[in-house]
Amino acid sequence: MPELRRDPLTGRWVVIATERARRPQDFVRQSRARAESGDCPFCEGHEAQTPAEVMAYRPADLPANGPGWQVRVVPNLYPAFEPATGALDLRRDGLYLAEQALGAHEVLIASPQHVEEVAKLPLSQFELLVRAYIDRYRAHAANPLIQYIQLIMNYGREAGASRDHPHSQLFAVPLVPSLIDLELARSREHFASRGECLLCGILRQQLAEGERVVLENERFAVFAPFASRWPFELWLVPRRHEARFERLDDEGQELLARALKETLGKVFAGLNDPPFNYWLHTAPTQQPVDEYYHWHLELAPKLAIAAGFELGTDVMINTALPEEAAGFLRTTPGPA
Ligand SMILES: [Zn+2]
Ligand SMILES: [Zn+2]
Ligand SMILES: [Zn+2]
Repeated sequence: MPELRRDPLTGRWVVIATERARRPQDFVRQSRARAESGDCPFCEGHEAQTPAEVMAYRPADLPANGPGWQVRVVPNLYPAFEPATGALDLRRDGLYLAEQALGAHEVLIASPQHVEEVAKLPLSQFELLVRAYIDRYRAHAANPLIQYIQLIMNYGREAGASRDHPHSQLFAVPLVPSLIDLELARSREHFASRGECLLCGILRQQLAEGERVVLENERFAVFAPFASRWPFELWLVPRRHEARFERLDDEGQELLARALKETLGKVFAGLNDPPFNYWLHTAPTQQPVDEYYHWHLELAPKLAIAAGFELGTDVMINTALPEEAAGFLRTTPGPA
């Protein structure tokens, strides 16, 4: 009998389709489609092919927009959100409301070399990528126009990446996205009735049960959520109560980089380099939610597609048991 499960953080229901559940091995990919070949504008030495950088980690004696960098951040060539150039323009037309998509859209190039498998980047590059996330986050959080900052990684063409060169993206947006609002509302409610953070509670239950936990270190735990919407969905969660990702201290940054690399390594090795998306959920920049919101990173390998039922209902049908998926990844070593 299929099972309906509800995610405590969002309240969303998921069908865990136990009848047609596939074994973890059934999700192992044949091969990943490559995004493009030829000249890559993200490679070291090709700096002139991107818009001028907004930040880069390179020795101080080397000029901007030239080689010698380790992580480089540039505006997206086709930005979804653009910096303000004039007065804000709000437009009403009957029931319709529109405004300019002000904000920022940046690409964080995670390596000077064209390493196509992001999981194989050295730990030092993951540490620099995490540092770049925080530096860019803080730069945009200071802008009073910005209400939320979304950090993501798309990996592989099927997951929306247009380039194979490892990179992340930052979107600074003038609104609080509805999914964050949903998590905030449920976290606030839980805090009001139980006096504790909802995700702290979820984490405690996950660690006590253990069957959906993939890995842990001193500061982070990675687990498959009880109501996983996607096969092999994973959440990476700080073990301490922390609302704001950008306040992570040095030790936390290092252990986040370690947990992230290890997680991507297990997904890479266990499922044969599948495309994936990950995205960060953290407190909106201007809301006092620190008592009850708990930041986290969500990762979804692209192993299933949302079809008519899922699109029409926002109820996913997941054909992988979260407990089996987690067990499979727990025992998968990362790449050497
Ligand atoms: Zn490249
Ligand atoms: Zn918490
Ligand atoms: Zn979330």
